[in-house]
Amino acid sequence: MSVGSLPDVTVASLPDAALGSPADTAVDFLADAAVDSPADPAVGSLADVPVGAIILGPDGTELSAGRNERERTGDPTAHAEVLALRRAAAIRGEWRLDGCTLVVTLEPCTMCAGALVLARISTVVFGAWEPKTGAVGSLWDVVRDPRLNHRPEVYAGVLEQECAQLMRDFFR
Ligand SMILES: [Zn+2]
Repeated sequence: MSVGSLPDVTVASLPDAALGSPADTAVDFLADAAVDSPADPAVGSLADVPVGAIILGPDGTELSAGRNERERTGDPTAHAEVLALRRAAAIRGEWRLDGCTLVVTLEPCTMCAGALVLARISTVVFGAWEPKTGAVGSLWDVVRDPRLNHRPEVYAGVLEQECAQLMRDFFR
């Protein structure tokens, strides 16, 4: 998918150097996040959109995971990325997540893009593009705004088809 004139959006495979461990580590985690986030059984008549996120520590091991729980919890901020960030910070005992990688099945929204920048996440890997609300290259590019002094490296469209299929199945 085209992202217009935005520079340095990487749409392809991760270089080995990205994680300090085999490149496919993030891809494997992304695949797991996708598989692990089928829609919840409906709560009332509502089910949560299946989005999964995982945070990898600097050594490439899994620190935390989250899935979208907005409907289940009635919390407008309960996006997969925010929940994973909170859990990773709790585990590390600090809000700074330098050196960590956020892996998510869908392009983050403005809230999540802002949160991951504030957490100092070093690398973002996402699957499907979200042309309606995406803030990592689609509608906005919150994480690579040159006015910010922290700009994570982004790998977009990894396992894009698999992740997009999750969404198509949900909204069918
Ligand atoms: Zn979000």
